Amino acid sequence: MLICATCAVERDEPLPDLCPICTDERQYVPEDGQRWLTLDGLSGEGHKVTTTENEPGLFGLSTGPKVGIGQTAQLVVTPAGSLLWDPVGFVDDAAVEAVLAQGPVLAIAASHPHMFGVQVEWSHRLGNVPVLVSEADRQWLGRHDPAIQTWSGSKTITEGLTLHQTGGHFPGSAVAHWAAGAEGEGVLLTGDSVFPNPDRTSVAFMRSYPNRLPLSGAVALRIAAQLGTLQFNRIYGNFNNVIADRARDVLQASAERHAAWCRGDFDHLT
Ligand SMILES: [Zn+2]
Ligand SMILES: [Zn+2]
Repeated sequence: MLICATCAVERDEPLPDLCPICTDERQYVPEDGQRWLTLDGLSGEGHKVTTTENEPGLFGLSTGPKVGIGQTAQLVVTPAGSLLWDPVGFVDDAAVEAVLAQGPVLAIAASHPHMFGVQVEWSHRLGNVPVLVSEADRQWLGRHDPAIQTWSGSKTITEGLTLHQTGGHFPGSAVAHWAAGAEGEGVLLTGDSVFPNPDRTSVAFMRSYPNRLPLSGAVALRIAAQLGTLQFNRIYGNFNNVIADRARDVLQASAERHAAWCRGDFDHLT
């Protein structure tokens, strides 16, 4: 198994010349070309996983120095066990110990293929726990394993913790809804289909972030309508970007603004 240096998604050998995830229009191969990494090589360079408590029962796991895209994974801890969401592209014994210190892991799931990280490696080290992959995005898997289980629509991990397929950034893009989060008002963990912006009062809906390719207004409104049926007050993105409160209102208003710009309502401002 090797890891793409740009997206940090694990891949079986024989390796392709270029990472398929990075050659897709949503990503990019850097100017200095394709590079593949190993876990031992990353350990030797001093990479580690650091854990931060975001709120009671929710921990962020990030790589430092960052590996690949450098997302922050989320560990959602419930009385029945944990969900590891958007797993990072590196794992070592200390990281596994930190995760298991919060109890057994029920499943690993990613919001979309850019966030697969070394999900199968995490599974093996956590006792071969299921790796849940959206059926619509299984073609993007770089590493195949019996631990992988595909799903569509919605998938309950345990009571109060459910995955919902929204589509958008990828057809299989998903969010995780954690009902007990935000002091019982509910939390959404999102990937790139709903991206909390730096202003902390709006979210973006994009097919590509690095290459600045928006989703349509209709898709933004569809995602907001679907997620509007859930109870939540806070959204965590996967880069420590958070809508701390009133997140349902923020999501709806952002989708309406996005659709209005796509329609040309604000062309007089351009
Ligand atoms: Zn890649
Ligand atoms: Zn993405």
